[in-house]
Amino acid sequence: MKIISADWLVICDENNSIIQNGAVVFTDKIQEVDTLNNIEKKYPNIEIEKLAKNSVLMPGLINSHIHLEFSGNTTTLKYGNFYSWLNSVIKHREDLISKANTKLILSKLSKMKRTGTTTIGAISSYSFDLDACVKSPLNKVFFCEVIGTKGDMIDTLFADFKDRLNIAKKYKSANFIPAIAIHSPYSVHPFLVRETLKLAREENLPVTSHFLESREEFEWLHKDEGAFVEFFKNFLGQEQSVTKPMEFLNLFSNIKNLSFTHCVEASSDDFEKIKSLGASVNHCVTSNRLLNNTKLDLEKLKDIPFTIGTDGLSSNNSLSMFDELRNVLMTHYDKNILEFSNVLLKAATINGSRALGLNKGSLAEGLDADIIALTLPDEIEEKEDLAMQIILHTKFVDKTIIGGEFV
Ligand SMILES: [Zn+2]
Repeated sequence: MKIISADWLVICDENNSIIQNGAVVFTDKIQEVDTLNNIEKKYPNIEIEKLAKNSVLMPGLINSHIHLEFSGNTTTLKYGNFYSWLNSVIKHREDLISKANTKLILSKLSKMKRTGTTTIGAISSYSFDLDACVKSPLNKVFFCEVIGTKGDMIDTLFADFKDRLNIAKKYKSANFIPAIAIHSPYSVHPFLVRETLKLAREENLPVTSHFLESREEFEWLHKDEGAFVEFFKNFLGQEQSVTKPMEFLNLFSNIKNLSFTHCVEASSDDFEKIKSLGASVNHCVTSNRLLNNTKLDLEKLKDIPFTIGTDGLSSNNSLSMFDELRNVLMTHYDKNILEFSNVLLKAATINGSRALGLNKGSLAEGLDADIIALTLPDEIEEKEDLAMQIILHTKFVDKTIIGGEFV
Protein backbone atom coordinates (compact mmCIF):
# COMPACT_ATOMS: atom_id res chain seq x y z
CA MET A 1 0.00 0.00 0.00
CA LYS A 2 1.29 3.47 -0.88
CA ILE A 3 0.21 6.97 0.10
CA ILE A 4 0.91 10.20 -1.76
CA SER A 5 -0.25 13.69 -0.80
CA ALA A 6 -0.45 17.05 -2.54
CA ASP A 7 -1.69 20.60 -1.97
CA TRP A 8 -4.59 19.88 -4.30
CA LEU A 9 -6.50 16.77 -5.35
CA VAL A 10 -8.69 17.13 -8.43
CA ILE A 11 -11.13 14.25 -8.16
CA CYS A 12 -12.82 14.49 -11.61
CA ASP A 13 -16.30 13.50 -10.42
CA GLU A 14 -19.82 14.81 -11.00
CA ASN A 15 -19.46 17.54 -8.38
CA ASN A 16 -16.06 18.75 -9.60
CA SER A 17 -14.76 17.91 -6.14
CA ILE A 18 -11.43 19.34 -5.04
CA ILE A 19 -9.64 18.46 -1.81
CA GLN A 20 -7.09 20.91 -0.46
CA ASN A 21 -4.18 19.23 1.36
CA GLY A 22 -5.35 15.79 0.36
CA ALA A 23 -3.88 12.31 0.10
CA VAL A 24 -4.51 9.18 -1.94
CA VAL A 25 -4.05 5.66 -0.56
CA PHE A 26 -3.53 3.05 -3.27
CA THR A 27 -2.40 -0.38 -4.30
CA ASP A 28 -3.14 -1.23 -7.93
CA LYS A 29 -6.57 0.28 -7.13
CA ILE A 30 -7.35 3.47 -5.27
CA GLN A 31 -8.17 2.53 -1.67
CA GLU A 32 -9.03 5.85 -0.12
CA VAL A 33 -9.05 9.58 -0.91
CA ASP A 34 -9.28 12.11 1.91
CA THR A 35 -7.59 15.07 3.58
CA LEU A 36 -3.97 14.51 4.57
CA ASN A 37 -4.96 15.01 8.22
CA ASN A 38 -7.47 12.18 8.15
CA ILE A 39 -5.18 9.84 6.22
CA GLU A 40 -2.27 10.47 8.61
CA LYS A 41 -4.49 9.57 11.57
CA LYS A 42 -5.82 6.45 9.91
CA TYR A 43 -2.48 5.14 8.60
CA PRO A 44 0.11 6.22 11.22
CA ASN A 45 2.61 3.51 10.23
CA ILE A 46 2.75 4.07 6.50
CA GLU A 47 5.21 6.56 5.07
CA ILE A 48 3.51 9.27 3.06
CA GLU A 49 5.17 10.74 -0.03
CA LYS A 50 4.47 14.45 0.39
CA LEU A 51 4.70 16.48 -2.80
CA ALA A 52 6.02 20.04 -2.89
CA LYS A 53 4.16 23.34 -2.65
CA ASN A 54 1.49 23.98 -5.32
CA SER A 55 1.40 20.30 -6.21
CA VAL A 56 -1.65 18.67 -7.78
CA LEU A 57 -2.75 15.06 -8.01
CA MET A 58 -5.39 14.06 -10.52
CA PRO A 59 -6.41 11.03 -12.57
CA GLY A 60 -4.12 10.25 -15.52
CA LEU A 61 -5.35 11.67 -18.82
CA ILE A 62 -7.11 9.45 -21.34
CA ASN A 63 -6.49 10.23 -25.00
CA SER A 64 -9.48 8.44 -26.47
CA HIS A 65 -8.55 8.72 -30.16
CA ILE A 66 -5.09 8.57 -31.70
CA HIS A 67 -3.43 7.08 -34.82
CA LEU A 68 0.16 6.18 -33.97
CA GLU A 69 0.95 4.76 -37.40
CA PHE A 70 1.00 8.31 -38.76
CA SER A 71 3.53 9.54 -36.18
CA GLY A 72 6.06 10.21 -38.97
CA ASN A 73 4.22 13.29 -40.22
CA THR A 74 5.22 16.81 -39.30
CA THR A 75 5.18 19.12 -42.32
CA THR A 76 4.24 16.75 -45.14
CA LEU A 77 0.44 16.66 -45.18
CA LYS A 78 -1.82 19.33 -46.62
CA TYR A 79 -4.20 21.09 -44.21
CA GLY A 80 -7.09 23.51 -44.72
CA ASN A 81 -9.49 21.28 -46.64
CA PHE A 82 -10.48 17.70 -45.91
CA TYR A 83 -10.33 16.52 -49.51
CA SER A 84 -6.87 18.00 -50.10
CA TRP A 85 -5.71 16.38 -46.87
CA LEU A 86 -7.11 12.99 -47.87
CA ASN A 87 -5.33 13.14 -51.22
CA SER A 88 -2.08 14.12 -49.52
CA VAL A 89 -2.44 11.16 -47.13
CA ILE A 90 -2.86 8.81 -50.08
CA LYS A 91 0.11 10.33 -51.86
CA HIS A 92 2.47 10.13 -48.84
CA ARG A 93 1.04 7.14 -46.98
CA GLU A 94 3.84 4.67 -47.76
CA ASP A 95 6.62 7.11 -46.81
CA LEU A 96 4.93 8.23 -43.62
CA ILE A 97 4.14 4.74 -42.47
CA SER A 98 7.66 3.48 -43.09
CA LYS A 99 9.02 6.42 -41.05
CA ALA A 100 6.82 5.49 -38.08
CA ASN A 101 8.82 2.48 -36.91
CA THR A 102 8.63 1.01 -33.40
CA LYS A 103 11.44 3.26 -32.16
CA LEU A 104 9.70 6.44 -33.32
CA ILE A 105 6.31 5.36 -31.95
CA LEU A 106 7.87 4.42 -28.59
CA SER A 107 9.46 7.86 -28.37
CA LYS A 108 6.05 9.46 -29.01
CA LEU A 109 4.41 7.25 -26.38
CA SER A 110 7.13 8.15 -23.91
CA LYS A 111 6.54 11.85 -24.50
CA MET A 112 2.79 11.32 -24.10
CA LYS A 113 3.48 9.81 -20.70
CA ARG A 114 5.58 12.81 -19.67
CA THR A 115 2.75 15.09 -20.78
CA GLY A 116 0.16 13.43 -18.54
CA THR A 117 -1.39 10.67 -20.60
CA THR A 118 -1.81 7.29 -18.92
CA THR A 119 -4.28 5.67 -21.34
CA ILE A 120 -4.81 5.76 -25.09
CA GLY A 121 -7.45 4.56 -27.53
CA ALA A 122 -5.11 3.65 -30.42
CA ILE A 123 -6.68 3.22 -33.85
CA SER A 124 -4.51 0.73 -35.69
CA SER A 125 -4.99 0.38 -39.44
CA TYR A 126 -2.21 -2.12 -40.11
CA SER A 127 -0.93 -3.23 -36.66
CA PHE A 128 2.41 -1.59 -37.45
CA ASP A 129 2.04 0.10 -34.04
CA LEU A 130 1.39 -3.16 -32.16
CA ASP A 131 4.96 -3.79 -31.05
CA ALA A 132 5.41 -0.27 -29.63
CA CYS A 133 2.01 -0.39 -27.92
CA VAL A 134 2.78 -3.72 -26.26
CA LYS A 135 6.14 -2.39 -25.00
CA SER A 136 4.81 0.91 -23.62
CA PRO A 137 3.75 1.16 -19.94
CA LEU A 138 0.67 3.20 -20.94
CA ASN A 139 -2.75 1.54 -20.90
CA LYS A 140 -3.88 0.79 -24.43
CA VAL A 141 -7.26 0.05 -25.89
CA PHE A 142 -5.98 -1.24 -29.22
CA PHE A 143 -8.61 -0.73 -31.91
CA CYS A 144 -7.97 -2.97 -34.93
CA GLU A 145 -9.53 -1.10 -37.83
CA VAL A 146 -11.64 -2.48 -40.64
CA ILE A 147 -11.97 -0.62 -43.97
CA GLY A 148 -13.22 -1.32 -47.51
CA THR A 149 -16.29 -0.68 -49.65
CA LYS A 150 -15.87 -3.14 -52.52
CA GLY A 151 -18.52 -5.86 -52.37
CA ASP A 152 -16.31 -8.52 -53.98
CA MET A 153 -13.47 -7.85 -51.53
CA ILE A 154 -15.45 -8.22 -48.31
CA ASP A 155 -14.37 -11.77 -47.48
CA THR A 156 -10.69 -10.96 -47.98
CA LEU A 157 -10.91 -7.72 -46.00
CA PHE A 158 -12.78 -9.39 -43.16
CA ALA A 159 -10.26 -12.24 -43.03
CA ASP A 160 -7.36 -9.77 -42.91
CA PHE A 161 -9.07 -7.80 -40.15
CA LYS A 162 -9.72 -10.97 -38.12
CA ASP A 163 -6.07 -11.99 -38.47
CA ARG A 164 -4.94 -8.65 -37.07
CA LEU A 165 -7.50 -8.82 -34.26
CA ASN A 166 -6.47 -12.37 -33.35
CA ILE A 167 -2.83 -11.36 -33.12
CA ALA A 168 -3.75 -8.37 -30.94
CA LYS A 169 -5.82 -10.67 -28.71
CA LYS A 170 -2.71 -12.71 -27.93
CA TYR A 171 -1.29 -9.68 -26.13
CA LYS A 172 -4.38 -9.04 -24.05
CA SER A 173 -3.43 -7.97 -20.51
CA ALA A 174 -4.49 -5.56 -17.77
CA ASN A 175 -3.04 -2.68 -19.81
CA PHE A 176 -3.63 -3.92 -23.36
CA ILE A 177 -7.23 -4.37 -24.45
CA PRO A 178 -8.04 -5.50 -28.00
CA ALA A 179 -10.94 -3.64 -29.59
CA ILE A 180 -12.59 -2.86 -32.93
CA ALA A 181 -12.59 0.28 -35.11
CA ILE A 182 -14.88 0.71 -38.09
CA HIS A 183 -13.14 3.32 -40.27
CA SER A 184 -16.21 5.37 -41.29
CA PRO A 185 -19.63 5.21 -42.96
CA TYR A 186 -18.16 6.20 -46.35
CA SER A 187 -15.30 3.73 -46.32
CA VAL A 188 -16.75 0.48 -44.95
CA HIS A 189 -19.34 -1.69 -46.70
CA PRO A 190 -22.45 -2.30 -44.54
CA PHE A 191 -21.92 -6.09 -44.79
CA LEU A 192 -18.45 -5.64 -43.39
CA VAL A 193 -19.77 -3.36 -40.63
CA ARG A 194 -22.44 -5.94 -39.74
CA GLU A 195 -20.01 -8.88 -39.57
CA THR A 196 -17.48 -6.90 -37.58
CA LEU A 197 -20.07 -5.70 -35.07
CA LYS A 198 -21.37 -9.22 -34.69
CA LEU A 199 -17.90 -10.19 -33.56
CA ALA A 200 -17.75 -7.20 -31.19
CA ARG A 201 -21.03 -8.29 -29.56
CA GLU A 202 -20.01 -11.94 -29.24
CA GLU A 203 -16.70 -11.06 -27.61
CA ASN A 204 -17.82 -7.88 -25.82
CA LEU A 205 -15.15 -5.70 -27.44
CA PRO A 206 -15.16 -1.88 -27.33
CA VAL A 207 -16.02 -0.29 -30.69
CA THR A 208 -15.28 3.08 -32.23
CA SER A 209 -15.88 4.72 -35.61
CA HIS A 210 -15.20 8.02 -37.33
CA PHE A 211 -18.51 9.69 -38.17
CA LEU A 212 -19.33 12.75 -40.29
CA GLU A 213 -15.93 14.38 -40.04
CA SER A 214 -16.25 16.71 -43.03
CA ARG A 215 -18.67 18.57 -45.29
CA GLU A 216 -17.42 16.35 -48.16
CA GLU A 217 -18.44 13.24 -46.25
CA PHE A 218 -21.86 14.76 -45.48
CA GLU A 219 -22.55 15.57 -49.14
CA TRP A 220 -21.42 12.18 -50.36
CA LEU A 221 -23.38 10.18 -47.79
CA HIS A 222 -26.58 12.18 -48.03
CA LYS A 223 -26.63 13.14 -51.72
CA ASP A 224 -23.84 11.29 -53.58
CA GLU A 225 -22.42 14.70 -54.38
CA GLY A 226 -19.35 16.84 -53.72
CA ALA A 227 -15.61 16.26 -53.85
CA PHE A 228 -15.91 12.59 -52.85
CA VAL A 229 -17.58 11.83 -56.22
CA GLU A 230 -14.27 12.26 -58.00
CA PHE A 231 -12.37 10.42 -55.28
CA PHE A 232 -14.58 7.32 -55.32
CA LYS A 233 -14.77 7.24 -59.11
CA ASN A 234 -11.00 7.47 -59.52
CA PHE A 235 -9.93 5.15 -56.75
CA LEU A 236 -12.77 2.66 -56.46
CA GLY A 237 -14.95 2.97 -59.56
CA GLN A 238 -17.85 3.77 -57.25
CA GLU A 239 -20.61 6.29 -58.05
CA GLN A 240 -22.80 6.04 -54.99
CA SER A 241 -22.13 5.88 -51.28
CA VAL A 242 -22.59 2.47 -49.68
CA THR A 243 -24.81 3.79 -46.88
CA LYS A 244 -26.66 6.75 -45.37
CA PRO A 245 -25.58 8.14 -41.98
CA MET A 246 -28.67 6.91 -40.13
CA GLU A 247 -28.55 3.45 -41.74
CA PHE A 248 -24.95 3.25 -40.59
CA LEU A 249 -25.76 4.26 -36.99
CA ASN A 250 -28.63 1.76 -36.88
CA LEU A 251 -26.12 -1.08 -37.24
CA PHE A 252 -24.50 -0.27 -33.87
CA SER A 253 -27.23 -1.47 -31.50
CA ASN A 254 -26.22 -3.38 -28.35
CA ILE A 255 -22.55 -2.45 -28.33
CA LYS A 256 -21.60 -1.91 -24.71
CA ASN A 257 -18.63 0.46 -25.11
CA LEU A 258 -19.13 2.59 -28.18
CA SER A 259 -17.80 5.92 -29.41
CA PHE A 260 -18.01 8.04 -32.56
CA THR A 261 -15.17 10.39 -33.48
CA HIS A 262 -15.54 13.97 -34.83
CA CYS A 263 -19.32 14.16 -35.62
CA VAL A 264 -18.84 17.80 -36.68
CA GLU A 265 -21.44 17.45 -39.46
CA ALA A 266 -23.88 15.22 -37.54
CA SER A 267 -27.53 16.36 -37.37
CA SER A 268 -29.73 16.56 -34.29
CA ASP A 269 -31.33 13.26 -35.37
CA ASP A 270 -27.89 11.66 -35.62
CA PHE A 271 -27.09 12.85 -32.10
CA GLU A 272 -30.43 11.53 -30.81
CA LYS A 273 -29.49 8.17 -32.27
CA ILE A 274 -25.96 8.30 -30.86
CA LYS A 275 -27.48 9.05 -27.46
CA SER A 276 -29.93 6.14 -27.70
CA LEU A 277 -27.01 3.85 -28.54
CA GLY A 278 -25.40 4.90 -25.25
CA ALA A 279 -22.33 6.05 -27.18
CA SER A 280 -19.78 8.79 -26.47
CA VAL A 281 -18.39 11.36 -28.90
CA ASN A 282 -14.61 11.69 -29.28
CA HIS A 283 -13.84 15.37 -29.71
CA CYS A 284 -10.64 16.08 -31.69
CA VAL A 285 -10.66 19.85 -31.86
CA THR A 286 -7.22 20.44 -33.37
CA SER A 287 -7.76 17.88 -36.10
CA ASN A 288 -11.10 19.43 -37.06
CA ARG A 289 -9.59 22.88 -37.13
CA LEU A 290 -6.63 21.83 -39.29
CA LEU A 291 -8.52 19.71 -41.80
CA ASN A 292 -11.94 21.34 -42.03
CA ASN A 293 -12.02 24.77 -40.39
CA THR A 294 -14.92 23.43 -38.32
CA LYS A 295 -15.62 22.64 -34.73
CA LEU A 296 -18.01 20.31 -33.00
CA ASP A 297 -21.12 22.11 -31.73
CA LEU A 298 -21.07 20.96 -28.11
CA GLU A 299 -24.58 22.33 -27.53
CA LYS A 300 -25.94 19.74 -29.96
CA LEU A 301 -24.53 16.92 -27.83
CA LYS A 302 -26.91 17.82 -25.00
CA ASP A 303 -26.13 15.07 -22.48
CA ILE A 304 -24.03 12.79 -24.70
CA PRO A 305 -20.68 12.50 -22.91
CA PHE A 306 -17.71 13.69 -24.92
CA THR A 307 -14.04 12.76 -24.61
CA ILE A 308 -10.80 14.36 -25.78
CA GLY A 309 -8.60 12.86 -28.49
CA THR A 310 -5.55 14.30 -30.21
CA ASP A 311 -6.13 12.20 -33.34
CA GLY A 312 -2.78 11.29 -34.96
CA LEU A 313 0.15 13.46 -35.98
CA SER A 314 -1.39 13.26 -39.45
CA SER A 315 -3.79 15.95 -38.21
CA ASN A 316 -2.13 17.52 -35.18
CA ASN A 317 1.22 19.07 -34.27
CA SER A 318 1.23 17.51 -30.80
CA LEU A 319 0.11 14.37 -28.98
CA SER A 320 0.14 16.11 -25.60
CA MET A 321 -3.26 16.06 -23.95
CA PHE A 322 -2.51 19.34 -22.17
CA ASP A 323 -1.74 20.97 -25.55
CA GLU A 324 -5.02 19.55 -26.82
CA LEU A 325 -6.95 20.73 -23.75
CA ARG A 326 -5.59 24.25 -24.24
CA ASN A 327 -6.78 24.12 -27.86
CA VAL A 328 -10.25 22.94 -26.82
CA LEU A 329 -10.43 25.69 -24.21
CA MET A 330 -9.48 28.37 -26.75
CA THR A 331 -11.62 27.06 -29.61
CA HIS A 332 -14.88 27.00 -27.63
CA TYR A 333 -14.52 30.67 -26.67
CA ASP A 334 -18.27 31.02 -26.08
CA LYS A 335 -18.03 28.89 -22.92
CA ASN A 336 -17.37 30.26 -19.44
CA ILE A 337 -13.69 29.44 -19.04
CA LEU A 338 -13.85 28.40 -15.37
CA GLU A 339 -16.83 26.06 -15.71
CA PHE A 340 -15.67 24.70 -19.06
CA SER A 341 -12.23 23.85 -17.64
CA ASN A 342 -13.92 21.52 -15.14
CA VAL A 343 -15.96 19.98 -17.95
CA LEU A 344 -12.76 19.43 -19.96
CA LEU A 345 -10.80 17.74 -17.19
CA LYS A 346 -13.67 15.26 -16.84
CA ALA A 347 -13.86 14.81 -20.63
CA ALA A 348 -10.16 13.93 -20.58
CA THR A 349 -10.49 11.45 -17.69
CA ILE A 350 -13.76 9.89 -16.56
CA ASN A 351 -15.52 10.30 -19.93
CA GLY A 352 -12.58 8.74 -21.76
CA SER A 353 -12.73 5.80 -19.39
CA ARG A 354 -16.43 5.32 -20.08
CA ALA A 355 -15.97 5.48 -23.87
CA LEU A 356 -13.21 2.88 -23.77
CA GLY A 357 -14.95 0.61 -21.25
CA LEU A 358 -12.39 1.04 -18.46
CA ASN A 359 -12.49 1.35 -14.69
CA LYS A 360 -10.52 4.57 -14.35
CA GLY A 361 -10.63 8.32 -14.73
CA SER A 362 -11.47 9.56 -11.25
CA LEU A 363 -9.73 9.63 -7.88
CA ALA A 364 -12.29 7.32 -6.33
CA GLU A 365 -12.14 4.18 -4.23
CA GLY A 366 -12.08 0.98 -6.27
CA LEU A 367 -10.91 2.54 -9.55
CA ASP A 368 -7.53 1.76 -11.13
CA ALA A 369 -4.70 3.76 -9.55
CA ASP A 370 -3.73 5.80 -12.62
CA ILE A 371 -2.61 9.12 -11.19
CA ILE A 372 -0.52 12.06 -12.37
CA ALA A 373 1.31 14.59 -10.21
CA LEU A 374 2.09 18.07 -11.43
CA THR A 375 3.18 21.40 -9.97
CA LEU A 376 1.60 24.77 -10.64
CA PRO A 377 4.03 27.70 -11.01
CA ASP A 378 2.46 29.64 -8.11
CA GLU A 379 -0.32 29.62 -5.54
CA ILE A 380 -4.02 29.38 -6.33
CA GLU A 381 -6.10 31.89 -4.44
CA GLU A 382 -9.55 30.60 -5.33
CA LYS A 383 -10.37 26.94 -5.68
CA GLU A 384 -12.65 27.61 -8.65
CA ASP A 385 -9.61 28.66 -10.73
CA LEU A 386 -7.77 25.38 -10.24
CA ALA A 387 -8.95 23.40 -13.29
CA MET A 388 -8.32 26.33 -15.64
CA GLN A 389 -4.84 27.03 -14.23
CA ILE A 390 -3.92 23.35 -14.56
CA ILE A 391 -4.91 23.41 -18.24
CA LEU A 392 -3.17 26.71 -18.93
CA HIS A 393 0.13 25.95 -17.20
CA THR A 394 0.89 22.25 -17.46
CA LYS A 395 3.40 21.20 -20.08
CA PHE A 396 4.89 18.15 -18.31
CA VAL A 397 3.95 16.15 -15.26
CA ASP A 398 6.30 15.34 -12.36
CA LYS A 399 5.17 11.79 -11.66
CA THR A 400 3.05 9.16 -13.35
CA ILE A 401 1.41 6.25 -11.59
CA ILE A 402 -0.19 3.50 -13.71
CA GLY A 403 -1.94 0.57 -12.05
CA GLY A 404 -0.39 1.62 -8.73
CA GLU A 405 3.21 1.66 -10.03
CA PHE A 406 5.40 4.72 -10.56
CA VAL A 407 6.40 4.53 -14.23
ZN1 LIG B 1 -9.03 9.57 -36.48
